[in-house]
Amino acid sequence: MNDVKYVFVTGGVTSSLGKGIISASLAKLLQARGYSVSIQKLDPYINVDPGTLNPYEHGECYVTLDGAETDLDLGHYERFLNVPTSQANNVTTGRIYQSVINKERKGDYLGKTVQVIPHITDEIKRRIKLVSSGNKFDIVITEIGGTVGDIESLPYIESVRQLKWELGSQNCIVIHLTLVPYLPSTGESKTKPTQHSVKELLETGIQPDILVLRTDRHLNEDLKRKVALFCNVEEHAVIESVDVSTIYEVPIKMLEQGLDETVLRKLSLEVGGEPPLTEWREFLTKLKNPKHSIKIGLVGKYVELPDAYKSIAESFIHSGAMNECAIDVEYIHSEDITEKNVSEILGGLDGILVAPGFGSRGIEGKILTAKYARESNIPFLGICLGMQCAVIEFARNVLHLEGAHSTEINHKTKYPVIDLMEEQKSIIDKGGTMRLGGYKCIISKDSKAYAAYKSVEIVERHRHRYEFNDKYLDDFRNNGMIPVGINPESNLVEIIEIPAHKWFIGVQFHPEYSSTVINPHPLFVSFIKACIG
Ligand code: GLN
Repeated sequence: MNDVKYVFVTGGVTSSLGKGIISASLAKLLQARGYSVSIQKLDPYINVDPGTLNPYEHGECYVTLDGAETDLDLGHYERFLNVPTSQANNVTTGRIYQSVINKERKGDYLGKTVQVIPHITDEIKRRIKLVSSGNKFDIVITEIGGTVGDIESLPYIESVRQLKWELGSQNCIVIHLTLVPYLPSTGESKTKPTQHSVKELLETGIQPDILVLRTDRHLNEDLKRKVALFCNVEEHAVIESVDVSTIYEVPIKMLEQGLDETVLRKLSLEVGGEPPLTEWREFLTKLKNPKHSIKIGLVGKYVELPDAYKSIAESFIHSGAMNECAIDVEYIHSEDITEKNVSEILGGLDGILVAPGFGSRGIEGKILTAKYARESNIPFLGICLGMQCAVIEFARNVLHLEGAHSTEINHKTKYPVIDLMEEQKSIIDKGGTMRLGGYKCIISKDSKAYAAYKSVEIVERHRHRYEFNDKYLDDFRNNGMIPVGINPESNLVEIIEIPAHKWFIGVQFHPEYSSTVINPHPLFVSFIKACIG
C-alpha cells in the first residue's frame, strides 16, 4: 500500500525559471493545509555533491543540519517550510552512478550487464522514495534540475515516467514550468515555446498534469485556454507565475490561483478550507512597509554573482522584516579594498558583513575591512572566513603579532592564529571532508551573542577546515577579543566578540543556513538592530 504522494516539478524552455521557488511555494501551501511535505532536488551533474563546485558555477553551497553539502534550492525549501532538510533531499547523477558502480563492484548485480535502464533508473527511484521512508511525509515534491530535453536529465525523466506508471496518476503527478515570453514588436505573449516544451516531455512518455507559466506580465484567459487545449491539460491547471517583487509573494499568488487545490484534487487528497497563512502574510506586510532603512556592506570575493551569498541575502530579508527595516545590501569586492580607499568604500555603511570563503584571493581586503569596522565602531558580523579575518586582524594590529595569518593562506606564518583542525591534518580528499553540519556550542551568559540567542546551548551548521588556534586564547582574551562560544566536546572556539565595540561578532559557523521566514536568525536580527542604532 502506497501512502506517500509524489509531485514532480520539471522545467522547460530555459533554465532559471524558478522551479525551486514554485516547489517551495507549493510545499508551503500544502503544509498550511495540514500535510507534512518534504522537497527533494535531483541534480543532473556528475559531481557527487556541489561541495567541490566553485560558487561561480552554481551559486552557494547550502549545508544541511546532518552535514550534506547541497544545492542552494534546499535553502529555499527550508526558508519556506521551516523544516530541516537532510542528505536524502539532494541527489546528483554523480551520487546515483557512484552507488550503482559500488554495487557492481560488490557483485550485487549477479553477473548482469549494468545499464541506464533499469539499474540507474531503479537507483533514482530508490532515492526518490528514500525521502519519505517510514512514511515520514504525506507528500514529497521532487524538483528535477535542468531543462527537459537535456541529455543529462533523461534518466530522471524516464524514472518519473516509470513511477507514474507504477504508482498511478492519483499518487504521482507532474508540474511542468515553462516560459511565456512577451514580444514587444507584436505586443503579444507567445505560447509556442511552451507547446514545444510540452511536446518534448510527451516524447519521453510524460503528459504533464499542471503547467505553470512564467511571465513578466498578466496572461489573459484566452491565452491560458489555448495552452490548456494544445497541451492537453485542464483549464484550471494552467497557472501563471508573474514576476513579483519578492519570492515570498509566490505562495500567495499560487494560492490565489488554486495551485495547491488542483494538486490535492489530482492526488485524491482532501482539500479542506483555505489556509489563512497568517504569519506569512504578517511577514510580507512588514517586509513591504519598513519603518527604517539601512545600508549594509557585504564584503566577499564572489560578489559578481549574488547567488553565491544567497542564504546571507535571504537572512537579511527575514531579519530586516522582523526589525521593520529595509536593508540595502551593497556587494563589495574584497579585492578592491586597499588601505588607501577603505574608508571611502566602507565609510557610509551602517553595518558590515565579511562573508565566508576559501583561499587567498581578496583576503587582505577582508582583513582591512575587519580593522575598519573595529576601529570605526561599525556593527560587524564575520561569518566563517569572515570571523577568521577578524581574528587575524586583531592579532596583527592589537596583539602586534606581525604577519599573523591563517595557515590556509600562509602555512609558514610565525603566528598561525587560525590553523588546520587536528582531525583535518591527515585528510587529502576534497569532497565531503570538511567539518560539516550541526555542532553544539555553549555561549557565555555575559555576551552579546547570548543576548541575541537568549540561550546557553545552541546548534549551528559548519563548513570549514581551519579553526581559531587556542594557543592564543589568553592573549586574545586579555586584550579584548573574547571567545564567547565554545564547542563543549572539542573545545573549538565558535564565537568571538569585542565587548567594548558597539556590535562586533565573528562566528565560525554559518547562521545564514538556518534563518527562515517564520524564524529569522537571532544573530542577524540582533545585528540589524545594532545597525539601525
Ligand atoms: N576557508 C576557511 C576554512 O576552511 C573558511 C571556510 C568558510 O568560510 N566556509 O576554515
